Amino acid sequence: MANYISDFTKSRFMVSNPARTARTGMDGKPFRCPFCPGNEIDTPPETYRVGPGEPNKSGWEIRVVPNKFAITDIHEVIIHSSDHEKNIEDFEIHQVENLIKTYINRFKYWSLDSSSSTSSPPQNDGRRKGKVFIFHNYSLVSGASLIHPHSQVSVVPTDIPTSTLALQPITNIVEQIGDFASYCPDYSEWAYEVWIAENPKSEIRRSKQIQNSNFKDLNENQIEDLATILQSAIRKLKKIHGSNPHYSKKPFGYNFYISVPSHPKGVQSEAIPESWYLRIIPRFMERAGFELSTGIMVNSIDPKSASAELKNI
Ligand SMILES: [Zn+2]
Repeated sequence: MANYISDFTKSRFMVSNPARTARTGMDGKPFRCPFCPGNEIDTPPETYRVGPGEPNKSGWEIRVVPNKFAITDIHEVIIHSSDHEKNIEDFEIHQVENLIKTYINRFKYWSLDSSSSTSSPPQNDGRRKGKVFIFHNYSLVSGASLIHPHSQVSVVPTDIPTSTLALQPITNIVEQIGDFASYCPDYSEWAYEVWIAENPKSEIRRSKQIQNSNFKDLNENQIEDLATILQSAIRKLKKIHGSNPHYSKKPFGYNFYISVPSHPKGVQSEAIPESWYLRIIPRFMERAGFELSTGIMVNSIDPKSASAELKNI
């Protein structure tokens, strides 16, 4: 059970869940990857799958299961593929598209009726209401505890304050594919961080006067473009990592998350275009005492230079 604890001003929260200390690989038992095909019995029963086969048997291409060692009360794991090592930067593009479709599926499933607090009882089908966060931690340097690439879906009760950044203005564009731009915002907290968002100034959008889409309503073409620009951005970051003698002392790793703003109580989601975005944070640098003591992030890589470097790869 997740235990949310606030500081005495009630402005900041932490969450504790003692079950997480017994995570796979930390319990001293011989390691067997619970996300590899053939080991389906090692996870809780699956909630969704892409690909053929019976539930909880091999044959899947993407598999979603409840997180056995959850942080929040609703917490799922999305296993990216049956391959223990390959990840987004190595996949065929259709696998990246399927992954994005799975994100959309889980987002829609868990974000139903997000207008009130989780302190109310679960809905009839067991779904609770809250803010849905989708994120991916890749490699041990980013905080992942299992190597097999996977994303996570976590639902935070609406009465717990969170402080996700708002969509930052699109500047320092690295790449433009269809409706989407990848870019290094002027406000970049991490070296070479890359954001992906719909670019309202793209020529297609300007000519057709199209509004930004809701994340949950992305169409097939947009999903294809998003998959392509995401894979391209990660490949570029991997090259920056490999060519830098300092960064490459540690394995390549990154986090990304998708931020979809929650709507105020009583406001229909259709009434406000959602400024959702995907933010990739390469883990080339560590956070240290200054950041921990001040809350002010240190990034010595100028986003304009980072963008120019990434653009030229
Ligand atoms: Zn595995």
